[in-house]
Amino acid sequence: MPNYIGRFAPTPSGFLHFGSLLAALASFLDARAAGGHWLLRMEDLDPPREVTGSAAAILHTLDAYGLHWDGPVLYQSQRHDAYQAICAQLQAQGLAYACTCSRKDLSAYHGRYPGLCRDADKPLEDAALRVRVSAQTLHFNDRIQGLCHGDPSDEGDFIIQRRDRLFAYHLAVVLDDAYQGITHVVRGADLLDSTCKHLFLQRLLKLPQPEYLHIPLILQPDGHKLGKSYRSAALPPDQVVPLLLRALRALGQSTPAALADASRDELLQWAIAHWRVTEIPASGQLYEANLH
Ligand code: GLU
Ligand code: ZN
Repeated sequence: MPNYIGRFAPTPSGFLHFGSLLAALASFLDARAAGGHWLLRMEDLDPPREVTGSAAAILHTLDAYGLHWDGPVLYQSQRHDAYQAICAQLQAQGLAYACTCSRKDLSAYHGRYPGLCRDADKPLEDAALRVRVSAQTLHFNDRIQGLCHGDPSDEGDFIIQRRDRLFAYHLAVVLDDAYQGITHVVRGADLLDSTCKHLFLQRLLKLPQPEYLHIPLILQPDGHKLGKSYRSAALPPDQVVPLLLRALRALGQSTPAALADASRDELLQWAIAHWRVTEIPASGQLYEANLH
């Protein structure tokens, strides 16, 4: 087993855009520079929010950009039995419980679940499953953000399985990072606030804690996050080298001008050999005005 296993874990709710290219490229380079494996996981947990064809399009784009992954793609839609087993175990241990509260019941609590069903011992029928979380401060050392801390109970006891039986991202990501033996997580800073929930679940389930590196977010010139919820441009297949170069610069890597004439694979080889995590801007948002 290599001592570095990284991953890229896209959600097929849209196409790859410049922000997701940054996350993919950073995790790819970090893994390759360490001589590690780079795995791909399709986070297709939520069929209603899935955009038809986007999972295949994401794989196709990664391939076109030269970001070749190791081994078969893991699809979260194939992992329901594993998620279900953990949900059943946590419920049997009294560490998770059924909640029948509606959105309306909770509207007065501003995103923090107040524990209304905590001791009600409701059956799981037509109910969500929440994990019990007491108030606490957890710390981790992000490789570029430095020492981070947070309270996994900031939203109260959080949902691990929804009322419609779909599994929550927080549960699946923790179980799959462990299942795939991930040692290093490199992802966007939009997930920084979720990390303490992940640490909490890792401890509860006695799973190893990977190293974390959260890259800064790209904002549109109008201040909107470049992401799935916003109309961001899909990556053009005919501008691979210019966009990889732009992504490297956004990641703080000082690319010599001559690289503009390099081939895709020469560029990636250069980037692996010269990868410097310490150059990645830690905070502040990168403004990326015009992709084309
Ligand atoms: N699937 C998540 C996303 O696309 C990323 C999950 C992760 O990297 O932990 O935003
Ligand atoms: Zn409830």
